[in-house]
Amino acid sequence: MGDPRDLRITIIGSGMGGLAAAVAFAKKGFKDIDVFENAPGLGFVGAGIQIAPNLIRVLDRLGCWSESSIEKNGTNVSDATVLDGATNTVLARSDMTGIKALYGYPHYTGHRASLADTLYEAAQKEPNVHFHFGETLQEVTSFGPDQVTFMVKHFQGEPRVLRTDILIGADGIKSAVRNSLLGASELKGEVEETGQACYRILLSRKEMEPYPELLELLDGNSVKRWIGEKRHIIAYPIDNHNIYNIATCQPDVNFAGPTDATWTTKGNKKAMISVYADFCPVIQRMLQLVPDGDVVEWRLRSHTPLTKWTHGAVALLGDACHPTLPHLSQGAAMAIEDAATLAEVIARLPADGTNRGDVARALEVYHLLRKDRTATLVEMAALSGRTLHLGEGKAKIERDRQFREAGEKGENPDKWASPDVQKMIYEYDCIKDAQERFDGLYASPSLKL
Ligand SMILES: Cc1cc2nc3c(=O)[nH]c(=O)nc-3n(C[C@H](O)[C@H](O)[C@H](O)COP(=O)(O)OP(=O)(O)OC[C@H]3O[C@@H](n4cnc5c(N)ncnc54)[C@H](O)[C@@H]3O)c2cc1C
Repeated sequence: MGDPRDLRITIIGSGMGGLAAAVAFAKKGFKDIDVFENAPGLGFVGAGIQIAPNLIRVLDRLGCWSESSIEKNGTNVSDATVLDGATNTVLARSDMTGIKALYGYPHYTGHRASLADTLYEAAQKEPNVHFHFGETLQEVTSFGPDQVTFMVKHFQGEPRVLRTDILIGADGIKSAVRNSLLGASELKGEVEETGQACYRILLSRKEMEPYPELLELLDGNSVKRWIGEKRHIIAYPIDNHNIYNIATCQPDVNFAGPTDATWTTKGNKKAMISVYADFCPVIQRMLQLVPDGDVVEWRLRSHTPLTKWTHGAVALLGDACHPTLPHLSQGAAMAIEDAATLAEVIARLPADGTNRGDVARALEVYHLLRKDRTATLVEMAALSGRTLHLGEGKAKIERDRQFREAGEKGENPDKWASPDVQKMIYEYDCIKDAQERFDGLYASPSLKL
């Protein structure tokens, strides 16, 4: 029997969740952490990301916020404004200048690469974290009760079987770890079409400069969402107001294969412009500015809800277990919260916690700590999407009435911009929650393994 920090930790995937897990375990003093990543290096799609206060709280705990490039170059958001896509009139505006005072951290937008690089650099500074790029997990071959065994293959090599004490599947929506876990538990789970796709666009200052109405957007601190039937566009400045990040969401009809492993493909500019043909001139102008060949389209997919995230000494996190539509801007936040919770929980194992049964128990506590919150946010993101995309009719009239009544502080049908929902999401402290509830859940006789 030894110290839980002697347990060997293997993380599959170096997306936002996997990187955060590597840093979180290292900060907790774990001595042997390996990250296996399928890609030959860190490769993040050039796009922005909203970094909500609950996410910044975790980054700060991991030493990845103050003075980070994401803090230095990101935008401190002043408001979330919902507009009618066709007329550009404001439907509702939530003031966010008080977010830091309310929740201890601001709401930022930034470049995905800055966030990933910050986490990667933090992980690289930890001597106990080892990255293995170009290595694909093929399957988990044993979940215990002794060590976990798994098969990985380097893109130039033969498959080989490795051992570890705890394996974390941070391998995203197409998770191979999840497939193995479901197989071993005799459970079924399917990837689901959401019927939605999105274009992701970055416009530079140079491209926007000739147009005062666009410069105003780039120089502001507002996150704006233009909505229309079955479609919307969300946009905000990143990179010290040098880049305007635009993400659209529309029915998945133009998507043309073949796609890569992330369901991303080159989009067609003409098709993109025609999807938003009835949107206002500001939107038309921005879409026209996109250089030909720079249109990237993502297919948005989901997964049937999982009843099980852990099996033996194997656990899933992030999109591998609760993929979400992006309408609440909480997918990466949830993955990073999962990562911090996992490290907290495993570090809290009793001093003799290298016992296999104890590890499985602690991982199930992690699942209990995370499942209700993530299920709520996933459902809320889907609901928000349905509300935002309403066509003409009674439901839309009622929604627009609610927008009008929302004003600066009231409940807003766009959950992402609604102060009551922001409160529920932003004030949550996943690490404090784990610290407060771990002992009770761990000791509970009803904990199901
Ligand atoms: C349009 C859009 C906008 C979004 N905006 C926001 C936002 O503003 N804020 C926010 O918080 N979230 C946002 N999200 C959600 C967020 O991007 C994801 O939820 C988050 O990145 C998931 O992180 P992850 O680590 O779980 O998975 P991923 O980021 O998908 O990482 C998985 C990693 O595992 C690797 N991998 C896969 N299979 C294997 C294998 N077999 N072996 C080894 N490695 C493997 C992959 O290469 C990848 O690096 C958005 C999503 C979309 C689609």
